[in-house]
This record gives sequence, structure tokens and C-alpha cells, in this order.
Amino acid sequence: MSDLENNKAMNSLLDNVRIVLVNTSDCRNIGSAARAMKTMGLSQLILVDPIEMPNGQAQALAAGATDVLANASVVSTLSEAIEDCGLVIGTSARSRTLPWPMLEPRGCGEKMVAEATQYPVALVFGRESSGLTNDELQLCHFHVQIPANPDYSSLNLAMAVQTLSYEVRTSYLLSIDETEQERSTGNGNYIGKKTVNAKSDDDELYPVTEETERFYQHFEKALMSTGFIGDKHPGLVMTKLRRLFNRARPDVKEIKMMRGILASIERAATKN
Ligand code: SAH
Repeated sequence: MSDLENNKAMNSLLDNVRIVLVNTSDCRNIGSAARAMKTMGLSQLILVDPIEMPNGQAQALAAGATDVLANASVVSTLSEAIEDCGLVIGTSARSRTLPWPMLEPRGCGEKMVAEATQYPVALVFGRESSGLTNDELQLCHFHVQIPANPDYSSLNLAMAVQTLSYEVRTSYLLSIDETEQERSTGNGNYIGKKTVNAKSDDDELYPVTEETERFYQHFEKALMSTGFIGDKHPGLVMTKLRRLFNRARPDVKEIKMMRGILASIERAATKN
């Protein structure tokens, strides 16, 4: 790969890293987040139902990163923001009642860079007042908590964006170094391949959120057809199943097989 091709490939890697801000109430935080992102080489900003759209104050705080702000997409739900993502990591300033697989900020950066070689990946930030809801957190594969002062653990939104974007950049720079080393020693030239937790070329890809959500809907429908869950209160069962399958992280082939199994269960249930 030439230097130019290599640079392009590395840029597209960071272009696959998406910062999602959910229901932000103060648009100055959006401006500061845009600045934090650009300093770390990130540009993909998605605003989910912002309470205050970015205005002049947001632009002032974005400083030289008004391009990131101007190119931000606005959507109405978190599901829309992440539907094409193969990895979604939610941030949380505090522990939640429903334990979920947790990552350290360093591990979060490594995982995002490793998987951004394959599909868009998202880092999701919550409301200034109350963070992310449980439903929103359940749409994420992992949660990450910045290990702040336990007596005062809640960072300003944009500063949390800065801290975690820095971790993404650190892993990205490491993966360039590794690529350089591989090139100079002649040991392969695939970007990001050596980063921690990357799936090998022979492995199946993980499904994107849209496919996983269709699987959960199918699962719920099948369990209703067998009577395992009633029409009215599917809530807790589905949350627990989400947690189980999220932990196992089935790949595309495995999800396909599960869909086949569910279809056969539905057929058997309707026969009886
Ligand atoms: N009062 C809220 C905190 C909101 S801070 C709560 O109790 O959840 C706004 C956002 O900044 C959070 O939703 C999260 O996205 C991010 N954030 C703040 N502190 C964080 C920390 N220690 N670790 C990870 N994310 C953090």
C-alpha cells in the first residue's frame, strides 16, 4: 500500500467512528464536543433529538471545528443514529441497576479502532441532567465509565467526549505504528489488523444494530406464539434475553441460524 493509500485508509477508519449525543439540553456542550472531536481527528457527529439546536454560542465554542458542527446529522431516536453500526458503546457516569459488560476507557478505544476497520462504530453520550435511559443503554453492546472521583464522578458532557475521543486516538496512533512496523518488516499491511480484539479475516462479521433489532423482534414474536411471554408484559424477559445475547455477541451466521430456529418454533406453535 502506498503512503497516500495508507493515509486514506486510516482516515476512513476514523470516519467510521461516530459520536452520538442524546437529547443534549445545552447546545454550547454540542459546540465544545465538536471541538473535542476535531482535535482527536473525529468528524462524525450525530445529534439525537437535541433540545437546543446548535446556534451562534455553539459555533463560538466549536472554534475551528464549525465544520464538524455544520456536518452533524440530526435524528429523532437513538435507534436511527446507530442502525448501521456493528459496535455501539454507551457511556455512563454511574453504575446502573442492570449490570452490562463494562469497558475501561483504554479498552473502549482499542475495541472501537479494531472494529472500525469493518463497519461504523458508535460512542453514545447521555443528557446533562440524567445521562442515558435504561432502554438506551440496552441498545449498546458495552458500557464505558471514566474512572473519575467516586465522590464526584460526573464530567461535563464535552469533557467526557474529549476523554474518550483521546482514547480512540491513542489506539488509532498505535495501530498506525503497528502498520508501519508490519510494512517495514514485511509482515502484512492490513490496517488495524493487529489491534486488540480485532476479528480475523476468516471470522464472520458482527451484525449491525438494525439486524440485531429485527432478531429481538422476531424472538419476542416467537415467544409470544409459544405463550412463554404474554401479550402485555414482555419487558423483563426481553431485557434478560438481550443481555444474554449481547454477552454472547452472535455473528451474522449465528443470527441467521437463530432466525431459522425461531421460524421453526413459530411453525410448530401454530400447528398445535
Ligand atoms: N447526571 C448524569 C450525568 C450526566 S453527565 C447521570 O447521573 O448519569 C452527561 C454525560 O457525560 C453522561 O451521560 C455521559 O455520557 C458523559 N459522562 C459524564 N461523566 C462520565 C463518566 N465518568 N464516565 C463516562 N461518561 C461520562
